[in-house]
Amino acid sequence: MAKRRRKRRGFRLFFLLMLLAGLLAIKWAGTVSLVADPGAGGTLTGAGWYFPGAKITVAARPQAGWEFVGWTVRGETVSETPEYTFTVAGKIELKAQFRPLDLYAMEALARGRGSVAVSAQQVVRGEVVVFTAQPEPGYRFAYWEEDGEFVSAEAVYSFAAQAPRNLRAVFVPEEYRVDLEVEGDGEVVETWSLEPARVTLKAVPREGYEFFGWVDMDTEQEIETEAVLSFAWKGGRRLMARFRPQLVHVDGDSLMAVASKQTTIGQYAPDDLVYLPADYSSGKARLRREAAEALDKMYRAALADGVKLYVVSAYRDYQKQTNLFYRYAKEDGIFEAERYSARPGQSEHQLGTTVDFGGTSTGLTEAFFHTPQGQWLYNNAHKFGFALSYPKGSEEITGYIFEPWHYRYIGVELAREWKESGLTLVEFLIKKNQAF
Ligand SMILES: [Zn+2]
Repeated sequence: MAKRRRKRRGFRLFFLLMLLAGLLAIKWAGTVSLVADPGAGGTLTGAGWYFPGAKITVAARPQAGWEFVGWTVRGETVSETPEYTFTVAGKIELKAQFRPLDLYAMEALARGRGSVAVSAQQVVRGEVVVFTAQPEPGYRFAYWEEDGEFVSAEAVYSFAAQAPRNLRAVFVPEEYRVDLEVEGDGEVVETWSLEPARVTLKAVPREGYEFFGWVDMDTEQEIETEAVLSFAWKGGRRLMARFRPQLVHVDGDSLMAVASKQTTIGQYAPDDLVYLPADYSSGKARLRREAAEALDKMYRAALADGVKLYVVSAYRDYQKQTNLFYRYAKEDGIFEAERYSARPGQSEHQLGTTVDFGGTSTGLTEAFFHTPQGQWLYNNAHKFGFALSYPKGSEEITGYIFEPWHYRYIGVELAREWKESGLTLVEFLIKKNQAF
């Protein structure tokens, strides 16, 4: 009997201990509860009971139109990834924060005759949208515009959405065309206004290039030097947009200044100009003092050899060169004028060290080379510091035709070195400048 009672008492003790352990387990186990904020933002997995020390992963999945922001505990962010792994240390409530995705409205309209389509009327940020333009017969798609500004010339235009867009396809009658040629590296953006038809052309140079002029290809005249050209459309027109590598600015004061079609001395004007004697000039021609003195020596040496030099042109300022260049362009067309006349800022005459000889019956033609003046200069000018800038057969290098009358003073030492080099003057000066 006594033995049996002892046994029952032991069982009770065991039961009590088990209950205590269970209560302790309940106390120490982690209740992981998950809350979506707001509730419509997404679904969550991983809530439940876990023993302390367990490594668990909870996950948040946003509903369509929502994005996951982060997990928070009592307002503190603990993770910004939708899957969050942590060690259970007790009861915890995790909040998954969601926010609505940015939705952008996409609208396509037409100006002129044609139809437009857009891949979706509402998209989230970053989603690719495709706008398509289809002209009616007799019309052509010109470009997409937005708020009156050019956007793209692609009939099928796609991009990743970063904002709401309201694009308008511009369709113009087939005959509304400008025949465009582009020289150098750049492109032309064409925009139209209709009724009355007016076109605006904008020249956009590539990196490292600059725009320098619109040429009417029928008249070969430079009609505009600004990048934007706008005119009423009155039928076909042939135009050229011209781009060139950005000009290198050089110091016109240097006797070694490279004056070429790739450089500019801007509006440089020398401050030591002197008038040349009327013995061998009109009396109005000017050169920089050093060049004038060298010329005087050369004049007397030639005279001693029985050759009388005569100066027809010397220093020309920026404005005078402008007038001269565009006068030639008017007479012969811009492309022809560029072969024998420099643009302002690019003329060696603007340096105040350059002379055109003449006064012979040949005028300023190749035939001058065979006159006594032409021959004497060719053989002797370098001894006095003068170099023939534009020799025969060098147009590809110098940009100018043979000018046997055009000599530039660079100093006796350099002129001798130049003559021995066999290079054109521009090549020689570039080399010399690089050596510094
Ligand atoms: Zn000249």
